[in-house]
Amino acid sequence: MKVDVVVVGGGAIGLIAAKTLAENNVESTLIEEHEEVGLPEHCAGLFSLLNFRRLGLPTMGKHVENIVRGAVFHSPKGREIMLDAGKTIAIVTSRKMLDSFLAHEYERRGGELILGERVVDLSFTNELVRVRTKSGLEVRAKKVIDAEGMVSALLKKTLKKTTERKMWIPIIQVWVENHSLDPRYVYLFFEEYLPEFFAYIIPVDDEVGKLGVASRTCLKMKLEKFITRRTPGLKIIRSVSHAVYTGRPLRPDSSSMIIPVGDVAGHVKASTGGGVVMGGLIARSICRIIASQLAGVSETASQDKRTIGYLIRELNKIASFMKLFRSLPIHIIERLFEIIDKSNLVEELSRKADMDFQFTSISRILMSPGILARLLFASLT
Ligand SMILES: Cc1cc2nc3c(=O)[nH]c(=O)nc-3n(C[C@H](O)[C@H](O)[C@H](O)COP(=O)(O)OP(=O)(O)OC[C@H]3O[C@@H](n4cnc5c(N)ncnc54)[C@H](O)[C@@H]3O)c2cc1C
Repeated sequence: MKVDVVVVGGGAIGLIAAKTLAENNVESTLIEEHEEVGLPEHCAGLFSLLNFRRLGLPTMGKHVENIVRGAVFHSPKGREIMLDAGKTIAIVTSRKMLDSFLAHEYERRGGELILGERVVDLSFTNELVRVRTKSGLEVRAKKVIDAEGMVSALLKKTLKKTTERKMWIPIIQVWVENHSLDPRYVYLFFEEYLPEFFAYIIPVDDEVGKLGVASRTCLKMKLEKFITRRTPGLKIIRSVSHAVYTGRPLRPDSSSMIIPVGDVAGHVKASTGGGVVMGGLIARSICRIIASQLAGVSETASQDKRTIGYLIRELNKIASFMKLFRSLPIHIIERLFEIIDKSNLVEELSRKADMDFQFTSISRILMSPGILARLLFASLT
């Protein structure tokens, strides 16, 4: 078999990449090792409404489980800060349903989806990449989009690259009943015993929610501790284990024959581990650049190159900020909660903070003279 592009991995980013290729009339094949896309569902499925739309994805449909208007942040000592945008700002989705939708859209546009095949080798031959699966299937392609996710076996083997391995934090996400929280908000908990990552509860409705706890050590014990202390009475329905990335992204090179995208490339916000929107936007731009390269009109790709540069810079800035934040002692984090509360910064953050472009939006808010003065006053009192 010979095609223009092979996409390895049918997670959210591989599917967004494949769909973009199909939309731009590039002949492609997507190879996914599981028999079904969207499973196991290692994702909370929370996305900002604005940027989900920017990705060209529908904000209504079977994949939408809930819509939310804000977030409640809990400090280690129990202080609560509620950010309320006053309107719907994010959606909670089922990743199983979202991935099925993307796969359907890809096939509807003529893309070829091969399920149940694991790619084990990528090699270069006569200006093509030879993609080989465990069962012996072979496809040759001009380009390969590597969207294999966290494991990154192919990336390590072929390009000798990886993300920062120590910045992956193991996480357990459980689906729970009886959360008794207002389903219009998501809930983030900063805990002394969870220094690497906040715990979260994302309601699906009045009853059911997704709860996540991440830690490098004693993860199961910490999950139990969190439930006992913060939300006793919860009933666990099912659970999934995976890891979230909190490091720097790899810079994509669209001239390369093998291009990593999504989690394998660390195209993830180091603050929340969220990778679908930012990773999806980068993958989309890369695929449009590939389409113009294949059509011999690469000069049309300059806007997409600028978009990629901008997104990678934003992810790098978030990673640098988070490195600093995670090094703060717990009493300083508690004090920050107090200062934000006292300075009335909450209203500005509620209205203007962007869930994805976090560094740019929050630094713009903080840099306005009125806010700086309020923060200074609050920190001195
Ligand atoms: C608990 C948890 C909660 C999260 N919540 C959010 C959230 O609310 N919002 C958000 O934006 N992000 C969230 N994320 C991050 C998000 O899930 C990832 O950024 C996203 O799934 C990355 O997509 P991907 O396609 O790069 O990788 P994956 O989704 O990991 O997909 C990779 C796919 O490639 C397949 N594969 C791997 N190797 C091969 C091979 N050799 N051959 C064939 N197939 C292969 C895998 O089986 C898999 O299906 C969360 C992550 C976790 C762990």
